[in-house]
Amino acid sequence: MNQFAVRNGVLHAESVALPEVAARFGTPASRASLESALQEFLDVLNGHPAGQGALVCYAAKANSNLAILNLFARMGAGFDIVSGGELQRVLATGADPRKVVFSGVGKTVAEMKQGLDAGILCFNIESPAELERLNEVAGQCGKRAPVSLRVNPDVDPKTHPYISTGLKEAKFGVAYDDALALYRRAAALPHIEVAGIDCHIGSQLLDPSPFVEALDRILALVDQLTAAGIRIHHIDLGGGLGIKYQDDQVQPTVASYLNPLLDKLAGRGLKVVLEPGRRLVGNAGLLLTRVEFLKPGRAKISPLSTRR
Ligand SMILES: *Cc1c(COP(=O)(O)O)cnc(C)c1O
Repeated sequence: MNQFAVRNGVLHAESVALPEVAARFGTPASRASLESALQEFLDVLNGHPAGQGALVCYAAKANSNLAILNLFARMGAGFDIVSGGELQRVLATGADPRKVVFSGVGKTVAEMKQGLDAGILCFNIESPAELERLNEVAGQCGKRAPVSLRVNPDVDPKTHPYISTGLKEAKFGVAYDDALALYRRAAALPHIEVAGIDCHIGSQLLDPSPFVEALDRILALVDQLTAAGIRIHHIDLGGGLGIKYQDDQVQPTVASYLNPLLDKLAGRGLKVVLEPGRRLVGNAGLLLTRVEFLKPGRAKISPLSTRR
């Protein structure tokens, strides 16, 4: 539901008139929008047999404001992080480290140590070099690091090229054809524990069909892994569900996106992990600002001027 509406010519956030908010605080976010966006995911998961025990890991890069992280943590969400700084932020809000997955292509030694010390759920590994480094760091810490490989399924997400991450040209993830061999390597490393499989194909997807295509590819790989004696406990389907920016756009419901995926997962005994970002926060805030001065220029026409 849209929590931002014009009533009697005044823009409101929930039941509050924004000029009053501006007078007291500055830029607002709508708590009801945040809650209902996350709740939509939780309801669909709770309503499907394959969604039992699932974990929604909010992608903190979408907005890492502490109050927002805290709200989601209290609603039972986990977090998808891409840096040590984000890990500190989510832990500072009281998040359970066992609900944190660590994504990103360039994890430093210090960030790996931070994740191991905190006892996070999973490192999402993007390259052979990263896997070797994590094995070494975990060995130094006397720990075994739980990992998923972020597999690039080579699926076109049909979104903007700058936010397409699942085609084989993208810098993200392990190439599909290399994934089995890298899983074998991971399974053989002494300080690595294979926990799951991960993919994230892009952002702002308004057509959910590429998610289905990607899942088919990932499940084919899970079957190969099972045949090779490598057990996968969770499947992380990434984020990427789009939101409505313009009136002519149609925002897919979480159910229309998720139920077809859950149907394919039914009976496989895989715990589902999701990493939505934009979908939870993108339509929950607006920038509220005030004109402080009018500064007419000779060459630059004021946008407020009616003269041309
Ligand atoms: C950005 C990102 C997300 C969240 O993507 P949204 O489009 O905001 O849902 C999830 N996982 C990874 C690895 C990301 O980089």
